[in-house]
Amino acid sequence: MVRSLSHWTKTLSFPNRHSKECNVNVHPIQAPPTPARNKTSSSSRSSSPPSSPSNVPITEISQIIYPDPDSEKVIMGSLVFCIHHKEGCKWSDELRKLKAHLNTCKFDAIPCPNQCNSQIPRVMMSDHLAFTCTLRRAVCEFCNVEFSGQGLEEHQGFCNQEPIYCESKCGTRVLRGRMSIHRAKDCLKRLKRCNHCQREFSADTLSLHASTCHKVLVQCPQKCDVSPLPRGEIDAHLRDECKALLVPCTFRDAGCRYKGPRNMLESHLESNTASHLSLMCQMSVKQNQQILSLKNAVAKLSTNYTGTLLWKITDWSSKLAEAKSKEGLELVSPPFYTSQYGYKLQASVFLNGNGPGEKSHLSVYIKVLPGEYDALLKWPFSHSITFTLFEQSSNGGGAQGGIAESFVPDPSWDNFQRPSTEPDSLGFGFPRFVSHEMLTRRPFIKDDTIFLRIKADASKVVAV
Ligand SMILES: [Zn+2]
Ligand SMILES: [Zn+2]
Ligand SMILES: [Zn+2]
Ligand SMILES: [Zn+2]
Ligand SMILES: [Zn+2]
Ligand SMILES: [Zn+2]
Ligand SMILES: [Zn+2]
Repeated sequence: MVRSLSHWTKTLSFPNRHSKECNVNVHPIQAPPTPARNKTSSSSRSSSPPSSPSNVPITEISQIIYPDPDSEKVIMGSLVFCIHHKEGCKWSDELRKLKAHLNTCKFDAIPCPNQCNSQIPRVMMSDHLAFTCTLRRAVCEFCNVEFSGQGLEEHQGFCNQEPIYCESKCGTRVLRGRMSIHRAKDCLKRLKRCNHCQREFSADTLSLHASTCHKVLVQCPQKCDVSPLPRGEIDAHLRDECKALLVPCTFRDAGCRYKGPRNMLESHLESNTASHLSLMCQMSVKQNQQILSLKNAVAKLSTNYTGTLLWKITDWSSKLAEAKSKEGLELVSPPFYTSQYGYKLQASVFLNGNGPGEKSHLSVYIKVLPGEYDALLKWPFSHSITFTLFEQSSNGGGAQGGIAESFVPDPSWDNFQRPSTEPDSLGFGFPRFVSHEMLTRRPFIKDDTIFLRIKADASKVVAV
């Protein structure tokens, strides 16, 4: 192989020492452009200046550079580095030996023996032949078939003998060539249809489904004589039909402990009418007691413990008419306490008057009722009592005034000794509290309603 001078002039380098001694300069002489030796080398070597002064093709270095044999001898004897010095070749010798060295230099590129058209430095040839040469011979590790390098690359990803994971993510590795059979027949994730309900499940959950499938026929858990039913209908069967299911007596809540097959219940009810009735009576008594204690609890919760009762008396005219027709008709207020643990009081009114106020006045009274805490209280009762009848505003602007009467109990009065459990006495109060005439003259009655306040005060100071 003949190298062009451009390669040499471009790439030759000389050890410093020698070039100084010989004072040789090969650079001014340049070769005309010649075709690149090959693809690989062209990139580094084709950048030589394109023109030559002589424009003559150069084939032998000696012909052009130094026609003079003496000079040639000197030049050819000069010490140079290998043209692959920069790539790492350490060779250095006389210029005339360079050509021979390049035939063995491991950094020099030579054509691939597989004729893949690559130029490869000798030092990289074995790697090229083993791994990258497109015409190398290579064996597939799975099917052991021999391919060219390119053929193997195309074969990779398609080899039927390569184990790969199932695409349905069942976790199994299967040869690629058997994957379609695996997915159709063995794969745990393949879809299978339940023979009973016709829904589809993955093969590994089908058996679990079979134990809950609503369409699977099962025996009645009570083992009655009915033929197997779809699982989904068993609940309704037990609830509505099953003759063997044990059911409690209808009077269970009343206390009957009987439990038996559903078809026996009727005869139980027939033969136990009397005892069921007696159970119901007992339950009714118990419930009455409960109602009573609830009533007491409610009354306690709604009891007024403030010592002041504002008594709203409605339907004035009809109640007055009734009082006029029934002599001695007394209206009593809800009981109230003077304080949380104090005296229990009750007010009463005679709308048509009582005693000296009869038929002309509204009479008001207060009496002490037997209370919860009487045993702990001081007797006789000595709180001052004030009755106030309020005027009502005509325009909604609030109460305007009223009539008030007060008294402080005298310790000697019977009415205020500790009351017996069955009080019957009239209370103490004002038979002529307010006259009927006054009731109509001033705005005490509005919307057929009056407001009467009764206030008990421990201070004994009479205050309105
Ligand atoms: Zn070399
Ligand atoms: Zn190759
Ligand atoms: Zn293969
Ligand atoms: Zn699978
Ligand atoms: Zn099913
Ligand atoms: Zn049954
Ligand atoms: Zn019963």
